[in-house]
Amino acid sequence: MKALCWTGVNETSVEEVPDPKILNSHDVILRVILTTTCGSDLHLLGGYIPFMRSGDVLGHEFLGEVVEVGTGVQKHKVGDRVVVCSFISCGKCWYCQNKLFSLCDNGNPNPAITEALWGFAPGGCFGYSHALGGYAGSHADYIRVPYADQGAFSVPDGVPDLTALFASDAAPTGWTGVDQAEVQAGDVVAVWGAGGVGQMAAAAAQLRGAERVIVIDRIANRLQQVEQHIGAETLNYEQVDVAAELREATGGRGPDVCIEAVGMEAHSSGPAYLYDQAKQQLRLQTDRPTAVREAIHACRKGGTVFTLGVFAAVVDKFPLGAVMNKALTLRGAQQHGHRYIPQILEHMARGELTTEHLATHVMPLDQGPRGYDMFKNKEDGCVRAVFQPAG
Ligand SMILES: [Zn+2]
Ligand SMILES: [Zn+2]
Repeated sequence: MKALCWTGVNETSVEEVPDPKILNSHDVILRVILTTTCGSDLHLLGGYIPFMRSGDVLGHEFLGEVVEVGTGVQKHKVGDRVVVCSFISCGKCWYCQNKLFSLCDNGNPNPAITEALWGFAPGGCFGYSHALGGYAGSHADYIRVPYADQGAFSVPDGVPDLTALFASDAAPTGWTGVDQAEVQAGDVVAVWGAGGVGQMAAAAAQLRGAERVIVIDRIANRLQQVEQHIGAETLNYEQVDVAAELREATGGRGPDVCIEAVGMEAHSSGPAYLYDQAKQQLRLQTDRPTAVREAIHACRKGGTVFTLGVFAAVVDKFPLGAVMNKALTLRGAQQHGHRYIPQILEHMARGELTTEHLATHVMPLDQGPRGYDMFKNKEDGCVRAVFQPAG
């Protein structure tokens, strides 16, 4: 079959690779209908997560048709149209039983790297390096889905492919941040990053009854999407003083919840950004925590800061004093999608959640390398490149 492979830092190519096979009784094989690039894939592309091998298949956000079913699978049959959570979780371990699915003890068959980095290993993720299990990704004609009864969800008939696709990763990641940050009705929520995940966090906060939702970015067409399709307020950090605007918007108090949806390659301006960039290039820190710092400073006293952006390990100039002295709750998570995907699909079926506008560029898988270039460089207003393996 054809697959879009990582072949080196900032290099991808469409290659011929072996078809996936059922390896365990709880696996299904999907024919991939749609699969999209995610901002976190850019960290793999750029070599910031150094656990890729040449030939690894990229992609963790996808929708497909079941073409083969393991003998132990109960919920799915050949022909079903399903969306799959990007995180791989067993459904049986202590973490899964406590609905902390991305922390699954069994989803990552190769936990040594992340145990060394973080103390304990989280679950696995499709197409996300050997640190997160070494699973083949979804930018391919076919994919093996382990623990399919847990991670694959049938898509209601009325929900189009291009809508349901984002119930795989972007939407449940946004939902995870808003739910785990315990956004309350009447809250003011600030979201750093207007990519797919930031937009979905804003949508989730609104559906949960936040009074004001303010999204911060520098790219005009993404901010325009936020206003037009999500209905949230926006701030362009290249044009305004974000901290001052957020104070103004909250009567001087600051947002109740600050959600960071940017991650390790954050942009900014000024000396702090240059310092971060230099240290990251020299491998003296793994991540650029620009947006996290801003969120911690902007947050009201006693508020919650939640990191949804992907970070690798260690950062410098982390404002620990603000966390302690302002009595902040600081949390983060990879998505617990198994918990949120069913309700997201219901919102989609009722027309309460708009996602198709994220798919600005839909193309055959053959054009994957070009799609990644456009996505990375935000060319032609690219918010997400979506690949159709069937062409
Ligand atoms: Zn993702
Ligand atoms: Zn588990």
